[in-house]
Amino acid sequence: MATRDDLLQELRLWPRWTLRPAAGGAPAPGESPVAAAPGAERECPAVAGDRATRIAALGWDGFAADVDACTACGLCRSRQRSVPGVGDIAAKWLFVGEAPGAEEDAQGEPFVGQAGRLLDSMLKALGLVRGADVYIANVLKCRPPNNRTPTADEVAACRAYLDRQVELIAPRIIVALGKSAANTLLESDATIGSLRGRVHAYRNVPLVVTYHPAYLLRTLQDKAKAWDDLLLARRTLRSSGGG
Ligand code: URA
Repeated sequence: MATRDDLLQELRLWPRWTLRPAAGGAPAPGESPVAAAPGAERECPAVAGDRATRIAALGWDGFAADVDACTACGLCRSRQRSVPGVGDIAAKWLFVGEAPGAEEDAQGEPFVGQAGRLLDSMLKALGLVRGADVYIANVLKCRPPNNRTPTADEVAACRAYLDRQVELIAPRIIVALGKSAANTLLESDATIGSLRGRVHAYRNVPLVVTYHPAYLLRTLQDKAKAWDDLLLARRTLRSSGGG
C-alpha cells in the first residue's frame, strides 16, 4: 500500500513543498517607511474625514502611505510596520492571507516567514513566482499582538483596503488562504472544509478557498487537498481565457 510520502511524491508535492532557508530581509515594495521599535506602543491620532470614500479613490501611488498612516483600529499602536501587500499590481493571481505575523511586521512584506516560504513553494509548483503575475495581500494590514485571530472590528476597519486592492489589481482568480480570508471575502462563517472544492466569487472575480500555509505546515496530509485547490484555481483561470 502506498505511504503518505509515496502519495505526495506521486502528486509531486514532496519534496517540492519543503521549506527553503529564510531569505535575507529584502525590502518590500510598499513597505512602511518608519518602523516602531519592537514592543513599543505609539500614539494613533483619531481618524479624520470620510475614510471609506478616500480609500475607495486611492491609486497605487498613495496606497502604502495611506495604510501606513491608518489609525482605524488599535493595531496601529503595536505594529512595527504596516504590511500593505506585495507583487505585480496587474497580476492575474491574487492570494489573500489573514494578517502579518512577527517577521512580516518586521519587514513590511506579507508571507516572509515559515508559512511564506511554503507559499512560495506552492507558487513554484504552479509555475508562478512571487511578484510576477502574483499579488499577495492579507485581510489585515497590521499584525495582531501575539498573532491572535483578527477581531470582527479589525476586519471591518481594514476591509476597505482589501476591496481597493481587488479593484486596482482586477485579478482573474483569487485564492483565499485559510478561514479568515475565506470568511472575510465570502462573508460567511463556514469551515474551510465546506468551502473548498468549488468556485466562489468575490466582486465577480472567481475565488477558490484553500488551507492556510501555516496550517499545512502542521498538517502534512492536507497538502494534497491544497494542491487540488490550486489546480482548481488554475483550471478556473484557464477556462476564463486567463492563462
Ligand atoms: N500568515 C498570514 O496570513 N499572512 C502573512 O503575511 C503571514 C502569515
